[in-house]
Amino acid sequence: MPDIKYFDTHAHYDVQFEDDLSEVLDNIYKLGVHKIVDVGYSKESSEDAIRLSNKYDYIYSAVGFHPQEAEKDNNVNILYDWVRDNKKIVAIGEIGLDYHYDMDKKLQKDLFISQIAIANELGLPIIIHNREADMDVLDILKNQMKPNVGVIFHCFSSSLEVAKEVLKHGWYISISGTITFNNANSLIEVAQYVPLDKLLIETDCPYLAPEPFRGRRNDSSKVQLVAEKIAQLKGISIDEVALNTYNNGCKIYNIKE
Ligand SMILES: [Zn+2]
Ligand SMILES: [Zn+2]
Repeated sequence: MPDIKYFDTHAHYDVQFEDDLSEVLDNIYKLGVHKIVDVGYSKESSEDAIRLSNKYDYIYSAVGFHPQEAEKDNNVNILYDWVRDNKKIVAIGEIGLDYHYDMDKKLQKDLFISQIAIANELGLPIIIHNREADMDVLDILKNQMKPNVGVIFHCFSSSLEVAKEVLKHGWYISISGTITFNNANSLIEVAQYVPLDKLLIETDCPYLAPEPFRGRRNDSSKVQLVAEKIAQLKGISIDEVALNTYNNGCKIYNIKE
């Protein structure tokens, strides 16, 4: 359906795509995905994201250091240089806390807070990676975020209570292909609850391919399956999900059409 446009608000094209990358990206655009944000998680991946967004009109980039970088020796001040030189960087991310693996929490918090300060200063929204760290992420955001700087909770996986808290602050909730998995019970409640003006959709490709492609390499065309599932859960049309999430993506990332 060529007139429905989709926005994949969170993707990673620096891994698992090599020889076929340009073919995949051309095809995705033809399938109706007309905006993508390629998200960095380290120095190298952020530089890759910038390069990709410079090459493709419809791709934008986010730059930042994921909590998995916390124990490494990174200088976050490079964010200033990247943003100053590149008009297509639309966010700082992905940043946050990941308590799933045994990584130093203090270092993770320091890295997170230092990047929030930069985002506040630059006036760029942040993309949050939150895994099993709800309370600390919310505490830090409440204490550190400037009120008018946007926040996206990417690949939302927390409870409905946490979603309510996120929405209370005017922050956005992004839903990935995990909504199609058969253990998605609490995410289903969240998807049904989130108002259409605070909802985003993403693939987090090459990871998290939705059913029936679970376990395979994911790409942005599969964001349509996320939209379809949400439409079904909310009892609305897929066009309505696509249109609202597209417009929300442009709004939060400050992309003018
Ligand atoms: Zn993430
Ligand atoms: Zn990601």
